[in-house]
Amino acid sequence: MTKVIDCVAIGEEIMQEIQEETSQLKAKGITPGIATLLVGDDFGSKMYRGQVEKFCEEAGFNYVNKILPAEATEEQVKEAVLELNADHEVSGILPLRPFPEHISDYAVINSIDVNKDIDCFHPFNMGRLTLGEATFPPATPAAVIEILERFARKEDKVDPKDFFEGAEIVVVGHSNTVGKPIALLVLNRNATTSVTHVFSSMKGNLEKHTTGADILIVAAGKAGLIGPEQVKEGAIVIDVGINRVKVFDEKGEPVLNEKGKQKSKTVGDVSFEAVKGKTKAITPVPKGVGSVTNRMLMKNALKACKIHYKIL
Ligand code: NAD
Repeated sequence: MTKVIDCVAIGEEIMQEIQEETSQLKAKGITPGIATLLVGDDFGSKMYRGQVEKFCEEAGFNYVNKILPAEATEEQVKEAVLELNADHEVSGILPLRPFPEHISDYAVINSIDVNKDIDCFHPFNMGRLTLGEATFPPATPAAVIEILERFARKEDKVDPKDFFEGAEIVVVGHSNTVGKPIALLVLNRNATTSVTHVFSSMKGNLEKHTTGADILIVAAGKAGLIGPEQVKEGAIVIDVGINRVKVFDEKGEPVLNEKGKQKSKTVGDVSFEAVKGKTKAITPVPKGVGSVTNRMLMKNALKACKIHYKIL
């Protein structure tokens, strides 16, 4: 029987844990806080900023909203980061990218205090992640691990350590922010880890790897990339992809909304309905990994707060 993993419930569970820990810290006069840094008015970044503010409110965190105009100089952006580094109300800093073209990502990220780098952008923290040392794992990869660990404990009734050790894990996607850190996190848990990407597909080798996976983690941003023929019977499939696609009816005709425009919907990289029956467990999209991602950022901020006050 396939288990559709309830990522929304996992996200709520984590939020409850965060709220409890925050109350305990507040009783000691300490409040964790997150600052977002927005330069310009990129639509996606503004959306994300709003979400972070909402989650901070829900968790009882301080929230600092730092906004600079698109024409701000790189020096001004770095100065803003240095101010946030020095602000005791700010446990973690989240630069909202993309920045305007004249601002170097590298320059801004390198000026963040490594103990406030809650989405693991700084090369120092990526280095620690690579070495398997304690750090702030980036939110989406951390969400994948959290989902798998909770699945191992609750559904498989095994210790996460045993769950990962020697498991055949295949990651599809090798971006610096998602695929690569996921691969490092599972490799550091002693999984037999393979990383595939667009060049594996171009050489016709993707299926050769994915069909060997006990756990298949897909983060490519390509709707329908993974069908049943790419999945081993009884595998656990984690779909990280988020794609907007047009909606068609059974006859292949576009489905229109009330304004006469073609409807669209959010899907993952895995053909969920076709693949589901073949799996032991699978995450849906929407209401999948994304429901846990922001919570992992909050968890990192909580950790950063404890590091700051030397209670970790
Ligand atoms: P990216 O574009 O930076 O990287 C895509 C990766 O997929 C690359 O490594 C590329 O080689 C690989 N790829 C592309 N086409 C492929 C193919 N045909 N076969 C095999 N591999 C292929 O994207 P990203 O930032 O890593 O994000 C990946 C997906 O995850 C996107 O859909 C993104 O929206 C989603 N995402 C989800 C969350 C979440 O919280 N659920 C968070 C971040 C990103």
